[in-house]
Formats: sequence, C-alpha cells, structure tokens
Amino acid sequence: MFAAGARQRTSGYRGRFAPSPTGCLHRGNLSTALLSWLAARLAGGELLLRFDDLDTPRNRAGAEASICRDLRWLGLDWDGPIRRQSEHRGTYATVLSWLRRSGWLYPCRCSRRLLADISAPHGATPVYPGTCRNRALGWAAAAGRLPSWRLRLPPGLIRWQDRFAGDGCVDGPAVVGDVVLRRADGFLAYHLATVVDELSLGITEVVRGADLRSATAAQVALMGVLAAEPPLYAHVPLCCDAAGRRLSKRDGSAGLAALRARGWDAAQVIGDLAAGVGLVPAGSRLSSRELLQQLTAEQLERTLTAAQT
Ligand code: GLU
Repeated sequence: MFAAGARQRTSGYRGRFAPSPTGCLHRGNLSTALLSWLAARLAGGELLLRFDDLDTPRNRAGAEASICRDLRWLGLDWDGPIRRQSEHRGTYATVLSWLRRSGWLYPCRCSRRLLADISAPHGATPVYPGTCRNRALGWAAAAGRLPSWRLRLPPGLIRWQDRFAGDGCVDGPAVVGDVVLRRADGFLAYHLATVVDELSLGITEVVRGADLRSATAAQVALMGVLAAEPPLYAHVPLCCDAAGRRLSKRDGSAGLAALRARGWDAAQVIGDLAAGVGLVPAGSRLSSRELLQQLTAEQLERTLTAAQT
C-alpha cells in the first residue's frame, strides 16, 4: 500500500514540519520549525511543509498564510508543494477501509461520558478498557447511531528509535490500548492521518515537539499493522513560559508579530531560538544560514540529547 513511500525513503533524508493551522506559530512551534529545518539541511535532505488541518473547527482563517510568512521571514525554506491533510481524505478512507476489511478495526459505542467515568484519574490519556472489543459485529449495525472505529491493538511491546529523546519501548495494551481511528461523527484521528502521511510521503525522520512523544507508540503500532517500517523519531525539547507552562498557539502574544513589534529582527529570533536549546550562547544574533554553516549533524544530535537529560 505504501510502496512509493518506501522507495522514496531509499533516496535520502526527508523530514517534515507539520503545524496545525489553528493560529500563529508560538515560540515552541518556531523552535521545532528551526530544528526540523536544521536536521533536514544538515543531512543534505528535503523538508516538507504539511498542514494538519483535519480538525476544521479549530482551523483559523489566515493561519496558513501567517505560518508560511513567518517561516520565510526566518529563512526556513521547504521543498515541494505544501501538503494539506484535508486534501487527502480519500487516501485516509482507503486505508481505513483496508483495516476494517482485514479485521483490524472494531466498532465502539462507548460514550465519552462512560469512558470518563471508567478511566483512571491520572491526567494522562486513559487507555480504553476494551469494552466493545469482543462484541459481535452485527451489534454495531443494529444499534441506532453510528459507532466509532478502534484499532484492535496487537499484544506485545512497541519499540521505536528516537535520535534526541532516547529510544522508546512500551507495552502496547497497558500504555496505548485500542485507539480510535475514526470517530462516530466521521472525524479522522490524528494518528491515522499522520501515519498515512509519514508512510506515503516516504518521511525518514520525524522531528517534532516532545509533547508528541506519547503519541509515538500508537503511531508505530499502526505502522506495524500496515506492515510498514516506522521512520526515525527525533523529539525536541518543549519551550515553556516564565512560569514553566508549555506554550500553546492560543498564547498568541508569544508569536513573531509580538517580537517584531518589539523591534526584533530575524537574526535576533534565530539566535534566541538556538540559544533556547543550547546550540549557541545566549544573546547570539545570526541568520538561519549562518547557524547551519557553523553546525554539524553530530553537534545538533549531541546538544538536543543533552537538553533532554
Ligand atoms: N500538527 C501537530 C501540531 O501542530 C504536530 C503533529 C506532528 O508533528 O506529528 O502540534
């Protein structure tokens, strides 16, 4: 199913930067963009720009244009046409129906309320207890409303390689469980779209924020079910505000527009982002090209590994 992507992988490094167009890029997104760009350019490879725009109610008009403008202003270029997940719903649906026909999915009618009641109050994403896993398929059709569809996660350990944050190994049923790939309202899950994109585009390395490290096991498990090799992962440190809280796009004040309004130029922003992960001394000013020229792939790896230990 992903033969073209597998062939593409043999022709060299291909990374991606995959923002959701829900607002302007905050400092954390900018840092991830810079590091994805550095990793790709240091490897002499390609960087694709992908918009994760399936969650339409959360998309903001103008966000795509502002993200592209910010990347260009910082000198972070990308290769090839922009990819939008919303333009590939047909591909996700094809993979979903293959999974369904092959017995990898089962319908689930558990309400969110029920799941909230039975989940442990850890704060972490609860693992689905498998309530609907062994029901007869006919049951789903008989009951009134549409079901969601869950992946029948195979037992065993899920392993992946992470160049910066340390390799991962988790027990699938205990930590991941049967994740939803298609919600009852037809919404396609992030895991499904991301996995299909990484595989069909032949992505060799996924550089992204460490907050998505916990999403990796489900994605690697799905790749296993699709008989595909996962890419290498490279999770980068998160940027926090002064109070130690993770930044989100809703904190628009942390975006480039606010920095520009304070008189910052691109060299100051690049210096600040690079210093934030220990690549250059605090107070450095340099262009993305100058930063690229003074780094090696090994230095990038050593610094980002150290930043997370
Ligand atoms: N779209 C996600 C975000 O903006 C990133 C997804 C990924 O890199 O896998 O947080």
